Amino acid sequence: YQGLAGRSTKEVLQLYAAHGQQMKLQGSSVVTQLHGAIKKRLKQDLKSLHSFALELSKDFQRQSKTCLYRVLAAVQGIQLQNEAMRMFQMKAFDLEQSLQEVTERYEKEKQKRKALHNSLVELRGNIRVHCRIRPLLPFDAAAGHSVSQDRQRNFSEKVAYAADDETVLVKCSRPGHASVNKTFQFERVYNDLESQDAVFADVAPLLTSLLDGYNVCIMAYGQTGSGKTYTMLGPQLEGNLAFPIEEESELGIIPRATQEVFRLISEKPPGSYWVEVSVVEVYNNEIFDLLAKDSYGKVFGVKRDVVTTREGKSDVPLLTHETVENASEFLHLVNKGLQLRVTHPTLVHAHSSRSHLVVTLTITTVVFGDNFGTLWEDEQTSQRLNKEASCTFPQKMRDSKSTSSSRASSPVQLEATEKMKQVKTRLQLVDLAGSECVGMSGVTGAALRETSFINRSLSALADVLAAIAEQRAHVPYRNSKLTHLLQDSVGGDAKLLVMLCISPGQKYLTESMQSLGFGIRARQVQRGQVKKKNFPVPSKVK
Ligand code: ADP
Ligand code: MG
Repeated sequence: YQGLAGRSTKEVLQLYAAHGQQMKLQGSSVVTQLHGAIKKRLKQDLKSLHSFALELSKDFQRQSKTCLYRVLAAVQGIQLQNEAMRMFQMKAFDLEQSLQEVTERYEKEKQKRKALHNSLVELRGNIRVHCRIRPLLPFDAAAGHSVSQDRQRNFSEKVAYAADDETVLVKCSRPGHASVNKTFQFERVYNDLESQDAVFADVAPLLTSLLDGYNVCIMAYGQTGSGKTYTMLGPQLEGNLAFPIEEESELGIIPRATQEVFRLISEKPPGSYWVEVSVVEVYNNEIFDLLAKDSYGKVFGVKRDVVTTREGKSDVPLLTHETVENASEFLHLVNKGLQLRVTHPTLVHAHSSRSHLVVTLTITTVVFGDNFGTLWEDEQTSQRLNKEASCTFPQKMRDSKSTSSSRASSPVQLEATEKMKQVKTRLQLVDLAGSECVGMSGVTGAALRETSFINRSLSALADVLAAIAEQRAHVPYRNSKLTHLLQDSVGGDAKLLVMLCISPGQKYLTESMQSLGFGIRARQVQRGQVKKKNFPVPSKVK
């Protein structure tokens, strides 16, 4: 700028313009250079980007191909699996069907086998034995103070099960004891969930036999607390031996059997049947008539005796037989009798399981016809009944306040008797005393007496069964009042069903095994075909 001094503005401006031009020329060449470099670089980048993208797309193609193969393989696999699944399903369906067929065939065979077994039982006069295992109940866990908690827990452990509807399984291993693993077969086994309905369903066919002319006896056997009374009568109210009539579904065999008998009778011509009831308790080898009344008509227990008639039958002279016309009359009557078991001073005993209870329904059938089969087995009775004939129909029986001894005083109407007979069949329902063999040590007084009487009567029952099983000439019925009273039923005059009752807990293992053993021995008894009472033989077609 020193050179500018002294120059004119014009010159200066010219100089500036020339300088600017020069600068411009210089700048544009740098830009060009820069532009070239950038362009070159960009080209390179674009190229590598292009090759990268190419590589990427190739890779993508490769990978998607692999994936596609994989997907295809998976789809194929699934298809194969589906196919296999379908095959399995078809196989399972086939198996299910054949299982169903086999089950149906098995059920049919089982029914056939049961029917055959039943006929065999009938022919041999076997005692039928059913076994009911009651559920575990809260009181099963309770034990004395001296028992440790562990033992207490073991006590309530279940050891008796229904393996199926014909088999009881007893399984138990206790430290210090030989382990038990045993099965027992019976005509029918009820598990702990089976209802009173189910039990009665198997008993009901016997009642049809009753009206066909057979005597029937159903007897509950088992230790105290095993469910005998529950099974025979139903659940009992605390401190009351009667059963609540309202709870229909809970009713036991005795009330249900009565209902069934009256239902069966209602299908017959009116007036041709009537029913009498007696309620007897065997306590300390004494027989008590629980329906006997005093002169005021109040029920009170009277001691009776059992005798053998000239025909060799057992009989209880003077025993009260009340005529009943329907099931509810029967229930009220039996309930009254049962309440007596706790209130009557001569019958005081702490627990109902200390006595045997025998409820008997006698069904008298009036049969018309002149073509009777064989002679009456009890010809004398027949003649006596025929004298009373036509006419001791229920109302009259009731009016005369009948006992078995007072019947002979009934009116005589001989003209109608020629072609008429009366046939008596008997349904005995027995709730036996507890079968446990309580150790005698420590038991004194009344309890000792009770226990020894119960033990004696139940062993007399076992002895009687053993004598019949061995076909001994002498059967010791008279060794105990119980066996004497039940002589006709046990000895082959009746279809006899023993209902074994079992407590499932470990605490009762010994007693349960004893009861099951009794049941097995009873099952083996063959008494010869049970006789049917004399009904008229249908006359041949003329
Ligand atoms: P047992 O007459 O043999 O001494 P119980 O019939 O009195 O025995 O039964 C003892 C207890 O067990 C009663 O409280 C009874 O209600 C109950 N029990 C018995 N069997 C059954 C059952 N199958 N289901 C429910 N409770 C039962
Ligand atoms: Mg009882």
